[in-house]
Amino acid sequence: MKTPVRYRGPYVYSSGRCIGRKFMTVYYDDGSKGTTLYSRYLMQTHLGRRLERHETVDHVNEDKSDDRVENFQLLTIGENIAKSTQLRRPTRWYEFECPICKAVVRKPLRQVEHNRKQCKTGPYCSRKCARAWQIKNCPPTRRGPVAQRQEASVLETEQ
Ligand SMILES: [Zn+2]
Repeated sequence: MKTPVRYRGPYVYSSGRCIGRKFMTVYYDDGSKGTTLYSRYLMQTHLGRRLERHETVDHVNEDKSDDRVENFQLLTIGENIAKSTQLRRPTRWYEFECPICKAVVRKPLRQVEHNRKQCKTGPYCSRKCARAWQIKNCPPTRRGPVAQRQEASVLETEQ
């Protein structure tokens, strides 16, 4: 196993989804280098050992830029995910009529909004209806045998 010999940093990303977090560059004894979270680095220094793969450093007060050792606790990956799920706002639902089969269904609003931002059509009640819309509205390019079978089944259910 390679051992870290030198650290540089901490650095912050000025854009992207990791704003507020700090990172360190790690140099290993075999000449390679990598990146590690600053919080992870500090916890390793504090404990005087390297962290196991399954160990994560949790910011107790949820402020990812608050890198004081008192604000750290070791959690397993599972425990940390459970904590984030509990803190998440309750799911808001979006009710709509599927444009293909006319069924009234509901989906998590965050899913619908995400797809809208990606300029996708829909929402639809299911993958099957999304596919039916695609077959009706998109030019038939590169359709393999699987796609053709799907089309046949969609047309069957419509009749
Ligand atoms: Zn549908």
